[in-house]
Amino acid sequence: MRSDTPSSPSSVAPPSDFRTAIIQTHWNDPPKKIFHKSKDEVDDALNVQDISNVFSSKLECCKSTFTSGPQKRVVDDTARRIDGLVKDLEGDKLSKEVIRSLHTLSEALESKEYAKALNVQTQLMTTDYEKHDCFKKSWGSHKAIHGNTKSPYEPFKTFKYAGPLRAVYPLSPRRAVPEDIPRPDYAETGIPKSEFMARSSEIKVLNSKEVEGVREACRITREVLEITAKAIRVGITTDELDRIAHEATIERKSYPSPLNYNYFPKSICTSLNEVICHGIPDQRALVDGDIINIDVSCFYNGFHGDANATFCVGNVDEAGKKLINVTRECLDKAIAAVKPGIRYRDFGKIIEEHATKNGFSVVRTFCGHGINQLFHCAPNVPHYANNKAIGVVKPGHIFTIEPMICEGVHQELMWPDGWTATTKDGKRSAQFEHTLLVTATGVEILT
Ligand SMILES: [Zn+2]
Repeated sequence: MRSDTPSSPSSVAPPSDFRTAIIQTHWNDPPKKIFHKSKDEVDDALNVQDISNVFSSKLECCKSTFTSGPQKRVVDDTARRIDGLVKDLEGDKLSKEVIRSLHTLSEALESKEYAKALNVQTQLMTTDYEKHDCFKKSWGSHKAIHGNTKSPYEPFKTFKYAGPLRAVYPLSPRRAVPEDIPRPDYAETGIPKSEFMARSSEIKVLNSKEVEGVREACRITREVLEITAKAIRVGITTDELDRIAHEATIERKSYPSPLNYNYFPKSICTSLNEVICHGIPDQRALVDGDIINIDVSCFYNGFHGDANATFCVGNVDEAGKKLINVTRECLDKAIAAVKPGIRYRDFGKIIEEHATKNGFSVVRTFCGHGINQLFHCAPNVPHYANNKAIGVVKPGHIFTIEPMICEGVHQELMWPDGWTATTKDGKRSAQFEHTLLVTATGVEILT
């Protein structure tokens, strides 16, 4: 989870409404430079009726209104244009579904619900939109931008990436979860309402029935992680890994917790090389020498489990192997210290000491977290030294430790998808995560 500040969730005032809350969660440090586009660029994008570009231009303009008033005119203008576009497309007898999606997209952009807008846009790009006449008409100009949307293309053309990794779109359509599988509150809405309601620093002590609930979810999470990891090979796409994980999850009557959590579009996170965390599975095929983190979370019978691990693809260089091993050791050392009485702020020192001793840095923006009926809750568990996390470890607490360790700097750069966080210098990052139960005398690893 993203830490609200270097301290704890309790230091942040409860959001006045859920929409604000989402923006706070994901955009509390807006990358201003990325989110600026000139009016000409916006016009260009709109002229070719390319939904993807319409979306990203609008997103970028809207974003800049957060900090600068002069952009507001451009936003209004873009909103007017997107409405016009919807009207044009209606004239071409688009399916009701596509029209509805376009309206939702427009509304989401109006109300600055960027994550929701991205989700709608993703679905749009993967519908049969391209079969329609209006699309065929603009095929030439569309192709000039990024070729056939059925064949892979790079969606963030003007984005200045930190490293060599690129997003490879289109994303596959959203995967379905059978009706009879119990799902968390955000599965339909994208908004984890119960998490916002519970937003406090109070750490839940679980009763034995609840512990059993999380234990089951964690057992399934581990199984799905192992099944997915076995499929890792040169040439497989991260989307294919997502499919494998998704199917293994629903086979076990579980809901993949990341799916639609704050509008996250996929069922697992796949974070390659310089990606710190929250990578979105796409059409990128694994290549020899990659390192890949797979983060699996399953919701079973009302409880979540959460685990991740970093794996080698083919032949990874010695430096990469060392990064993975040291990261694993950081997690192991922190877990070994878990027992009643230790403070949540104490784990960071153990992790940072081991990381820096080996020449690595520790990510500060993302933390471990409490987990139970909620996917993310108190405590906040930072992985760096001298943090101000609140709380003392007690029997019956369940939380994750999930250090992200970097070869270079620990600062991150957010991709325009609003999720993928890479290192700022493009050097590699690795991560391992377990869900942990505090017992009377120590700790039990649930995943
Ligand atoms: Zn986690």
